[in-house]
Amino acid sequence: MNNDCVFCRIVRGELPCYKVYEDNDFLSFLDIRPLSRGNCLVIPKKHVKWVYDVENFGDYFEVAKKVGLAAQKAFNSKWISFLTLGLEVPHAHIRVIPRYEKDLHGPVVDINVFEKFNEGEMQKIADKIKENL
Ligand SMILES: [Zn+2]
Repeated sequence: MNNDCVFCRIVRGELPCYKVYEDNDFLSFLDIRPLSRGNCLVIPKKHVKWVYDVENFGDYFEVAKKVGLAAQKAFNSKWISFLTLGLEVPHAHIRVIPRYEKDLHGPVVDINVFEKFNEGEMQKIADKIKENL
């Protein structure tokens, strides 16, 4: 755990999030700068910098897949993009991005182009993904 890390603070419950999934090792919540409807982040609860530092790497991606398929089902998305960059927040995270024919991106997701949903909409989006898990 890292005291200043935003994601560690979410894991500890010090910062709020729109949670969609949680187990002993992983947590998933909506990205507050959603690249598309249903865009979630999946993080390990343990603070590690890179996605490939996660010990149970296979389990980690299984969680991302589970969350992605739930979001796809919830919003009838065409496909799901999984993106890892790692430089924005120094705590491993997989971006799970449901894609739509008419979303804000072309073939490649542009992480500087995001949608705006109000709090009520964000909560509804999180709830709908949870219902489809
Ligand atoms: Zn952290």
